[in-house]
Order: sequence, then C-alpha cells, then structure tokens
Amino acid sequence: MKLTSYGAALQVTGSQHLLEVNGKKILLDCGLFQGHRKQAFEQNSTFGFDPTQIDAVLLSHAHIDHAGNIPTLVKRGFKGVIYTTHATKSLSEVMLLDSAFIQESDAEYFANKYPGETEVPIEPLYTSKDAEFSLEFFKGVDYNRSFELFPGIKVTFYEAGHVLGSAVTVLDVLDEDDGQNKRLAYTGDLGRERLPIINDPHQINQADYLICESTYGDRTHDPIEEGIPALAA
Ligand SMILES: [Zn+2]
Repeated sequence: MKLTSYGAALQVTGSQHLLEVNGKKILLDCGLFQGHRKQAFEQNSTFGFDPTQIDAVLLSHAHIDHAGNIPTLVKRGFKGVIYTTHATKSLSEVMLLDSAFIQESDAEYFANKYPGETEVPIEPLYTSKDAEFSLEFFKGVDYNRSFELFPGIKVTFYEAGHVLGSAVTVLDVLDEDDGQNKRLAYTGDLGRERLPIINDPHQINQADYLICESTYGDRTHDPIEEGIPALAA
C-alpha cells in the first residue's frame, strides 16, 4: 500500500492523494490548485501521475479545492468511476459548471485585454462542455453503507459535517502485499459539532492510517454558540 500526496500537503489547496494498493490506483479528491493565474494554470493543466492509469476517484465533497480539477482529469483520459455521496454528486454539477464559467470568462477577459499575449495563458483550463462531460463519470452512493470498490477494497462514506454531502472516506483493505487488513481514513474537510444546518461529523473509532485536515490545527475556535452574536456585533 502506497500513498502519495500531490496537493494540499504543506499547502491548503488542490487536494489530490493517490493510493496504490492491490494493483489499483485510487485518487482521493481531485482539487483545483488556487493561486496566481499562470502558476495555477501550469499546476492544474498537468498531473503528477498519469490520469489514464487511475482506476477510480473517491470524492470527499464538492468544494473546488477538492473537486475542481475533475474536468481536467477526464480531459486527460481518466475513464473510471468517481464515487461520492448523492448530495455531493448533485452539488458538483453546480460547482463544476460555475468553475468552468469563471475560467471561460477569465480567458475571454484576458484575450481582450492582452491580445497576442503569450505570457498569460488565455485558454480556459476547461470549458462548460468539459465540466458537463465529466459529470457523467459520477456515481452517488449512500452514507454509512460499505461497498466493494475492487476485490479486497471496501469503501464507506461517513458524515464529515463540513458542507452538504461532505464525507469522511474509510477504506478497509486486505493488502495483497502482506495479507494484512488495514484501515485508512481520509477526513477531507471536517466540520464542527452543533452547527445549525449540518449534521455532526461522524466519529471514526479506529484507523491504521489517517489523512486529516489540519487547516485550523494550530488554533482553538470559540464555542459555536458565540458565533451568531459575534457576527451580529
Ligand atoms: Zn471544503
């Protein structure tokens, strides 16, 4: 079992983690790197792995830094299935079409502003048509219900409490390399308890390996009940 992070490690955007196990390549999230235009275009238009060799994507939620580069992945030859919760599948349609629209508008703006400019990429990273096509690869699955992704690889999505449809992904693997059972948990982005419109995050009791969001890992949030008065003030 081998895990490689291609984004969101030592940075906060462009989540992409590649799990190689039992001869399969499984991509955890396919986020868009958000940054300076030229650098972002370069980073997003290529991958650190071969998209045609990816067997499946497990998508934690519909935010662009986790789902936003799926149209490019499909454009570069990915042919597998993108598994996610039903709500994330629905939300991804809105998010990816909006992302494509922004990129098309940006490209048009720059093409008009800097005609003949070669320094700034003026091609959209992907178009609305690319985004629409990538949606055909999505498959919605239920929370809390395990399914066999590949022989010896079981997947379960649990509530992450971050946004509608967000999931903690748990993989139960019988590793063919050493015959050991291993559990890998990938939190994606985690929410907090007692939020007014989102379910509480599910507690994962046990894992051999944990990939955990740590964006706010170095600070203590005020109690959630103090949020609304603070906002009003
Ligand atoms: Zn998020």
